[in-house]
Amino acid sequence: MSWVSRWSVSRLGKAQSCQRLIYLDAIMNYRARFSTSSAIQGTLTHVGVLEHYHKKNRPLRVDEIQGGLDEAMNKVANKQDSPVELTDRIKAEAYTRGYIEWADKEGDGSSAMSDDYVVICIEQEWTAVINDVRFTGIFDMVRYIPETQTYQIFELKTTSRKEALDVSSSYWRDLTYSNQPIVYAVALETMLDDENHPIQNMIPDDAPRNLWNQAELEFVYHIINTTKSKPGQKKTVRKRKSETEEEFAARKEENQETLDEWAEKVVEQYKSDMTKYFEHKFILLPWEIERKWDEIIDIIYMTNSSKHFPRNTGSCGDFGGCAFRKVCSGDEKLETSDRLIKKDVRDDIKLAEF
Ligand code: SF4
Repeated sequence: MSWVSRWSVSRLGKAQSCQRLIYLDAIMNYRARFSTSSAIQGTLTHVGVLEHYHKKNRPLRVDEIQGGLDEAMNKVANKQDSPVELTDRIKAEAYTRGYIEWADKEGDGSSAMSDDYVVICIEQEWTAVINDVRFTGIFDMVRYIPETQTYQIFELKTTSRKEALDVSSSYWRDLTYSNQPIVYAVALETMLDDENHPIQNMIPDDAPRNLWNQAELEFVYHIINTTKSKPGQKKTVRKRKSETEEEFAARKEENQETLDEWAEKVVEQYKSDMTKYFEHKFILLPWEIERKWDEIIDIIYMTNSSKHFPRNTGSCGDFGGCAFRKVCSGDEKLETSDRLIKKDVRDDIKLAEF
């Protein structure tokens, strides 16, 4: 019997990080009820940027970006049954509008406006059965460059970590050797190899289907460095000797930035400062993939053959803090915690349509 029948990059990370976490998440099927602010910003920014990818002949208009983000914000709010902070929605708009400037000026035309490549798919859910294991994921974008016979898998990431802008940092060492490029590469290889797979209709007839012998595969990360900024004082104010507490409080109130003023500032900042965006790409080699794929299969085997799912308390603070901390500490119960929600398993067994 397999404890976990569907695997994803996120589940692999959880299984590697803490066996109790994969148990609570993928076997007991619980998740955090509320999304973190950084996760919401990431989700909304994906909506904005991927919508931009869809526009083949022109950049998105501001009203289109705002409309798409408002709709996505409402979906997140409905899902967690709690409103989304407007500052997160505004930041996502700033990141998206800045990204569009960057992609057209400094990126390699990721707005899909070039004849040099063929866009195969954008924001495409996929399912692939590899070594009898079902994997699912979402391609942000896959392109094919006929001249060099190269497939490119694009992945957009939002992060507040400054090291993400330095390719020699530990951030990139970890990301380059992470599970995602490997899983996505093997999934694409499997789809290309399957002559009945719908992806065949999206690829030019003369493009090679044998990934490793006839074509190259490049993994392309696009990074957006996020901000912790929030509306604050327009300029530094100090209490004057002649001033009462009430007068000082009134002056501070007057000096407080409005949401609109702050929004304008953040959007301008992201539209003008291209150092907040970064691209890193690398070619994936077959021997490298083979070696790392074995490790991935080991993780799955370890989980699915496990009789115990022990806690790893060294991981509780990872990724902004584990959602199950109160349950693991015994302060809350899985079934009654207000912070957790039982997942709809229909989502889990739903086959991605691709
Ligand atoms: S709180 Fe810590 S021990 Fe518990 S599931 Fe999360 S990472 Fe594991």
